[in-house]
Amino acid sequence: MEERVDASAVIAVDIGGTTTRFGFVLPEGVLAAPWTLIASTQFSTEQGYAAQMTRLGGVVEGLARSTRRRNGDILGVGVSLGGRIAADGASVAVAPNLRDYEGRPFVHDLMERCGGLPVRLAHDAACGLLAEWRLGALVGARRGAYLTLSTGTGCAIHLESPAGVGVNSSIELGHQLLDGNQRVCLCGQVGCLETYTGGRQLALRYGQPIETLPPETWAELAAALVEKLSVGLVNLAQLTRVERVAVGGAIAQHHLELLPALQAGVRVRLHGASLDVVAAHRPANAPLVGAALLLTTPEGEVIH
Ligand SMILES: [Zn+2]
Repeated sequence: MEERVDASAVIAVDIGGTTTRFGFVLPEGVLAAPWTLIASTQFSTEQGYAAQMTRLGGVVEGLARSTRRRNGDILGVGVSLGGRIAADGASVAVAPNLRDYEGRPFVHDLMERCGGLPVRLAHDAACGLLAEWRLGALVGARRGAYLTLSTGTGCAIHLESPAGVGVNSSIELGHQLLDGNQRVCLCGQVGCLETYTGGRQLALRYGQPIETLPPETWAELAAALVEKLSVGLVNLAQLTRVERVAVGGAIAQHHLELLPALQAGVRVRLHGASLDVVAAHRPANAPLVGAALLLTTPEGEVIH
């Protein structure tokens, strides 16, 4: 955090099941490349809500103080979280990886800890979508989706009218049921797509993190992932008429070879429509940049 600021900035926070990351983002017009992440820090996410809130408040307050010291100002705090957000956007409704956060007044509590700065909260897939839609791989698409292949399988879709009125909503792509799948998902359902695509569920099945698997085991896993996810994406295209999907998240980021295989799997199955499978421009940072974008996005544009 040595850069001189001299402008208004947004503090972005991305809370995942294991890591909480912070970014510091300057809005459009300030830099040649707008909404660039200019600094970041992180810590291990606290499973306990109260402990997490204390740490969050401390970091946000510190960032805001150092910004003001360097003639900058903070517009607000945007938070991306790996869980479903309540309809009013103020609390966490369902978060299988962060159970203690469910039902707590998250926005109110964070505002109180950071001197009343405006706080906006959204599902991490909705944030990733915002970033890719406004600045990345989904620019120009009227119906687009952002898919994250990571600990879980998150997704959000954006649909826009010709008049430019759009809505962004997270959807439970990973928890659609696949015919014949008898695997029990962490969500409690039998047959979810995520039993083939979620990093956490795969690690539990193989007894080790998937990045440490021997190449032949990975190849077997990847073939099944591509086959099942291709079906899932065809369902996505048919149910929502989405035409382009940007894929991000750690699994996609480290295995870009999955994308052409997914595109081929979709092409062979999908008829009467088309779906372009493309790499997210910010495979690791889309949720963080999208969290910052929340501050200048009308509330009604994101459906929780
Ligand atoms: Zn499930």
